[in-house]
Amino acid sequence: MCLSDTPSDQPPPVPVPPEVLAHVVDVHCHPTDSPISPALMDTLHVRLCAMATRGSDQALLFLHVGCRTSACLLLSASRWTSTSSTHAALCAIGYHPWFAHWIAVKPFASKEEHYRSLFLDPSSKPERIEAFERLLPGLPEPTLLSDVLTGLRENLSAFPNAMLGEVGLDRACRIPYGPPSAPPYALDETRRELSPFTIPLPHQLAILEAQLDLAVGLRRNVSVHSVKCQQATVELLDRSRSRHGDAWNTISIDMHSCGLSAQTWKDLEKKHSNIFLSLSVVINSRSPAHRDLIATCSSNRILVESDYHDPAYSTSETWKMLQMVAEVKGWTLEDTWEDDVLPEQWGAVRRVEENWRLFEKGDHRPIRKKDKRKLLLEDWESDEEDKKPPEVEECGQTSPQFVSFMLGDVGDIGSALLAWEGGEDFSDINAVVQDIQGVVHGYRGVFLDVFPTVRPRFTTPFCVSWTMRPKDIRADRPRVRCK
Ligand SMILES: [Zn+2]
Ligand SMILES: [Zn+2]
Repeated sequence: MCLSDTPSDQPPPVPVPPEVLAHVVDVHCHPTDSPISPALMDTLHVRLCAMATRGSDQALLFLHVGCRTSACLLLSASRWTSTSSTHAALCAIGYHPWFAHWIAVKPFASKEEHYRSLFLDPSSKPERIEAFERLLPGLPEPTLLSDVLTGLRENLSAFPNAMLGEVGLDRACRIPYGPPSAPPYALDETRRELSPFTIPLPHQLAILEAQLDLAVGLRRNVSVHSVKCQQATVELLDRSRSRHGDAWNTISIDMHSCGLSAQTWKDLEKKHSNIFLSLSVVINSRSPAHRDLIATCSSNRILVESDYHDPAYSTSETWKMLQMVAEVKGWTLEDTWEDDVLPEQWGAVRRVEENWRLFEKGDHRPIRKKDKRKLLLEDWESDEEDKKPPEVEECGQTSPQFVSFMLGDVGDIGSALLAWEGGEDFSDINAVVQDIQGVVHGYRGVFLDVFPTVRPRFTTPFCVSWTMRPKDIRADRPRVRCK
């Protein structure tokens, strides 16, 4: 959510025809933060996944965007319903972490008592108490979490296609002074001074976990915000998986515009088969690390979004992110649309659209506890699921144990599939292949995760010849020839 960022007065035109844009989904945006114009909606060609953030915008979302069936109330032009069997626009309703302090997890004697318990303690200094007294009048009467959950359950049940979102964790957000604005929020241009108060993480976690429980119970996918909460987010997701068991994999989780490191993302993917990543230009391009994150994210887990408060920018912002994903992943980008394109010729639009289909469908294959080799091999295989297997051409057999292959792919940093005959476990091989640039996958052996970097993309010829026997590898550095 990014109310303060508007890139320009007019969104730039996107140089592709509507037939292409009809396959693009802005998986996280806030269209009801701005006044909704039917004329604009008529010219909007991308599909939207529209988020609510608090109680006051849920009704607005259903009124303007939401769909009880695939025919949306506002977006009901025939092209929307005819472009896809899925929805032209999806609603997500939930309580954003920026407003978690408005919710009380237990009964409270008064508004002041509730907010005091969140922001002050017996050791609070006089200036903090003064700031609290200035903040308090602008804060709304708290709502009990049990009431919030009852309302959320009712709304989610009334709208069977709705997701849960935007929910999450945010340790950076400071609470502004002054009363909250009424929707559409983007019309309120008051620059509010920020108070020193952030919302305690345990409080945010209690509210997020309760909402996630509801989502699992009702089998709804979720859009999750995570800012400066990397460790807490990982622990929460792990805890949710343990608590819900197989039910956890029936839903999909989109980590939206998140600031996770590439390594954290990689670890999350290995543990959770139901987690997807969507990035936005407006939030993620602030950090140069976003390219690493894109490169690290499996090809079948990446989505794109605008995170915009104005649907006028959904198309251009989502397209910009799609261009970036295509560039980093080495994918082509469709500029015309033809039906029946073979998977090996898919560009970024088709690939990401397919990812969205998998996200919407849910019911992900659980990752069972197994040895690392099987786990990672399966991970690699699922990455290539539904796509043509990589073109692998034998280019030399240098010992009875080893066969090397001519491969596609290197990408910016490089990756390779290394295959061999024989059943030896090279689980300690990482230590000696550090000078191979890239991720090396042992096709019938161990998955060699040398650098936390790109997955195979199989576009550029790349050769790896392995010239040593297994017993020698541990004793010496391997000779690896790449071209
Ligand atoms: Zn958002
Ligand atoms: Zn967000």
